[in-house]
Amino acid sequence: MNRDIEIAQQATLQDIGAIAAKLGVPEGSLERYGHHKAKLPLSLIDAEKARQSNLILVTAISPTPAGEGKTTVSIGLSQGLQKIGKKTVVVLREPSLGPVFGIKGGAAGGGQSQVLPMEDINLHFTGDFSAIEKAHNLLAALIDNNIQSKQGNLGIDPRTVLWKRVMDMNDRALRQVVVGLGGTGNGLPRETGFDITAASEIMAILCLCENRTDLKTRLGNIFIGFTYDRKPVYARDLGAQGAMAALLKDAIKPNLVQALEGVPAILHGGPFANIAQGTNSVMATRMGLSLADYAVTEAGFGADLGAEKFLDIKCQSAGLSPKAAVLVATIRALKYHGGVSLDDLKNPDPEAVRKGIPNLEKHLENLQQFGLPVVVAINRFVYDSEEELATVEAACAEKGVKVARSDGWANGGEGTRALAEAVVELTENGNTRFKPLYEWNMPVKEKIKTIATTIYGAADVAYSREAERDLRRIRKLELEGLPVCIAKTQKSLSDDPKLTGRPEGFTLHIRGIEIAAGAGFLVPLSGNMMRMPGLPASPAALNIDIDDEGVISGLF
Ligand code: ADP
Ligand code: MG
Repeated sequence: MNRDIEIAQQATLQDIGAIAAKLGVPEGSLERYGHHKAKLPLSLIDAEKARQSNLILVTAISPTPAGEGKTTVSIGLSQGLQKIGKKTVVVLREPSLGPVFGIKGGAAGGGQSQVLPMEDINLHFTGDFSAIEKAHNLLAALIDNNIQSKQGNLGIDPRTVLWKRVMDMNDRALRQVVVGLGGTGNGLPRETGFDITAASEIMAILCLCENRTDLKTRLGNIFIGFTYDRKPVYARDLGAQGAMAALLKDAIKPNLVQALEGVPAILHGGPFANIAQGTNSVMATRMGLSLADYAVTEAGFGADLGAEKFLDIKCQSAGLSPKAAVLVATIRALKYHGGVSLDDLKNPDPEAVRKGIPNLEKHLENLQQFGLPVVVAINRFVYDSEEELATVEAACAEKGVKVARSDGWANGGEGTRALAEAVVELTENGNTRFKPLYEWNMPVKEKIKTIATTIYGAADVAYSREAERDLRRIRKLELEGLPVCIAKTQKSLSDDPKLTGRPEGFTLHIRGIEIAAGAGFLVPLSGNMMRMPGLPASPAALNIDIDDEGVISGLF
């Protein structure tokens, strides 16, 4: 069987001008990055057209560590929609370099459902991550400079500075560092650390902002820490927002590429799905809806995390209204929730699949609570047995829910025709009643409780002393009206990764609540969230090479 990179390299790419023409974008509007990548100017966004188009959300059941194929299904579905004659675009996140060199697994789809050129997309792409990294680190430099300087000194207490530095690399050695060593000329020594660029608040800001003015306002709202006399300090107090926005001059524009079958693909932004909203930018989604009739997009991890944040934070923030949801399920994940260990997931076991169905049911019910019609997409793997597939189909039929086998990985758009037809039917039958789960102006604890009990299935929420202290701080800063972006493990609907299936009666533990005032949300933390991953013992980097002609090998 061909590897993803071999399939990608055998494909004949169309010139990006031809892809843009499919969306009615003239050559003169394209900002080309070579022959196969281009930036799209924000002036192409048409709010009225965007409101009329169909936004399709692809999400998943609680995943195994390998991922259940949301990106692959999203790309496959867009190819299927093209096959049945719909003007379609797929709108996705950009990959981070961390996973590229870390644990093997692409972020540009797989098999016959990939976005191209996959080498570029996975390595640097159009430089957006670098620009975000520089904007983030500029603020860090301005903070340390303010602490050092007599002139304009804000009296920042260095022990309260929350703003770290970022780099787009899995590098655990940078998690905790001391800066400012070497004497009075080299700054004030203080403890800080590095996060990976995807975890930067700037990334979350770029992905939620509406335009450059909004970008600057949000950058200015970043909460940095306190002065010695306990006054809050924001990025605007340092006058940082203008220069940061200038560094993001091009990064703010969505990127146009193509899927294997020539479907236009817009890739933009890549915020973490645990401590941030985990979806591509609002501007990219609007761009997709402005230029096509169907915009297929993905919300990270399982539906409890990605879809909830997509619907309650991104859609509410931007006034977006999805028409239908695709819930990706795999036989392997269902078996995992049915009690099978990770090593045995390839062995046929219809009984375990049946036992795993409650996890699927809970995610289905959750999406229906948002008023969205849902189709279950079984992302098919070669080792799935007919009996296992039929078990899932029977369970969906019993619930009166549409289900389709999704074969986009093996067969491209031909393999997702049934799924595409099901999606079109859902968007045309007028049964969408989208409404977010909660109002932003509810008290913070009420917001958390609503998500914990209705989406996760918790009985109660418990707060640590630190979390209670954080709540007092949030009240003092008058930030209670922000939505909540709960950081929780994706492995379980609960906060205990070991509880597979559909856990009930558990307590969700909140150990702290972080403030992302610039992005515009609060981050209640349940469990430890990794913001700077490490490399595994045998990193994927060791397989990657480039030859004399510049052809890259070993990338997935
Ligand atoms: P997610 O977006 O949910 O994290 P991806 O679509 O990125 O998942 O898929 C995760 C990995 O699994 C990728 O390497 C992809 O190529 C692979 N994959 C996805 N679907 C299939 C399939 N049906 N058969 C084989 N491999 C698949
Ligand atoms: Mg994905």
